Amino acid sequence: MTAEKKIPYKIYLEESEMPKAWYNVRAHMEKKPAPILNPGTLKPVTKEELSGIFCEELAAQELNDTDAWIEIPQEIRDFYRMYRPSPLVRAYCLEEKLQTPAHIYYKFEGNNTSGSHKLNSAIAQAYYAKKQGLKGVTTETGAGQWGTALSMACSYFDLDCQVYMVKVSYEQKPFRREVMRTYGAQVTPSPSMNTEVGRKINAEFPGTTGSLGCAISEAVEAAVSQDGYRYVLGSVLSQVLLHQSIIGLETKAALDKYGIKADMIIGCAGGGSNLGGLISPFVGEMLRGEADYKLIAVEPASCPSLTRGVYAYDFCDTGKVCPLAKMYTLGSSFIPSANHAGGLRYHGMSSILSELYDQKLISATSVEQTEVFKAAEEFARVEGILPAPESSHAIKVAMDEALKCKETGEEKNIVFGLTGTGYFDMVAYEKFHDGLMTDTIPTDEDLQKSIATLPKV
Ligand SMILES: *Cc1c(COP(=O)(O)O)cnc(C)c1O
Repeated sequence: MTAEKKIPYKIYLEESEMPKAWYNVRAHMEKKPAPILNPGTLKPVTKEELSGIFCEELAAQELNDTDAWIEIPQEIRDFYRMYRPSPLVRAYCLEEKLQTPAHIYYKFEGNNTSGSHKLNSAIAQAYYAKKQGLKGVTTETGAGQWGTALSMACSYFDLDCQVYMVKVSYEQKPFRREVMRTYGAQVTPSPSMNTEVGRKINAEFPGTTGSLGCAISEAVEAAVSQDGYRYVLGSVLSQVLLHQSIIGLETKAALDKYGIKADMIIGCAGGGSNLGGLISPFVGEMLRGEADYKLIAVEPASCPSLTRGVYAYDFCDTGKVCPLAKMYTLGSSFIPSANHAGGLRYHGMSSILSELYDQKLISATSVEQTEVFKAAEEFARVEGILPAPESSHAIKVAMDEALKCKETGEEKNIVFGLTGTGYFDMVAYEKFHDGLMTDTIPTDEDLQKSIATLPKV
């Protein structure tokens, strides 16, 4: 071991050290994620079928499980340079506060106007849509981070952007909505009366405040029923994990630059894109037998797809129009309890992460939201950054692991993904401060109900 170099508070890479290609971890997996299926025929989806919903290049990336490196087009690299490389921060103040011998690092993705890592994939998806000569794209957004990122990306490439926003968020997060409109997006509360599936859901559940699965169905329908439009999605898909590998590649380059070997890498997991992107290069090393890491996915106890779900083919959306994916899932009809404010609400998990979890290359844990907000506040007070509730799931577990090191005296290197900022989540913070935040953990019976609706494949 060489003596530890003095590590700066923020480790930045030079622009010239930025990755020029994304890393596709599927290429190095001996057992690949199961293919996505056409919901009608139950046969693996072809590129032609996928190209009806997604841009051609993105459909190809979705199905590509053989090329390890995919070059990042120059136009996308130019855009990345406006807000990347993102800093890898040594959390000296948090270490001090916890009195831990562990070394804690976080990769901060909130340094752009959309406030999260989602811009990394949004700009790629907008680029390929533009390159194909499309007029615009449609999408859904829950809390609004993805919609915001996509509207920024679309305005950069002068594309039309139609966002179906879960109604409850549309009403509770007017500022997110206005950021999207500032970048020229058209924002519609979902379920709407614009689409057949929206009208059907409104008729069946009058007064419903919507769900992500339902907004996805509306956005897909809007894409396939308008000429020159395709649907784009901000998480879950393998193409999104591919684009997000920029996070892990930069992290690895920054650690290597200072001779730091991570022992543990932690990330929050909703659909799995930030965690998948962060760990991909490290998983690659594990798959090639070059190194070993403890990798931890953190999910909310109120939406525990990895820790309590089943590994099966399921619909990706409530309207059952998207391809079927084999994943850890709670069933596409699962909706987290209404008092859940901490994000990460998706019923399933990326098929890549699901397969890695099934092969026991990554582990998973779930945490309750009041604990998450407690950790978020503690982090904000010492490190300065106001974290997104989603990101704070990773903070909570990183802090727990650092406290374990205090007991054992181990100087572990703990790396976690800090995916974004929480400025638009102040209603949830308010609930926490007022002591009104509660935890609801679904019972086995609750989960059985939605799991029973899984398609028979
Ligand atoms: C969307 C989002 C997440 C969760 O999505 P993943 O696809 O699981 O990464 C986490 N943090 C922030 C800030 C987000 O916006």
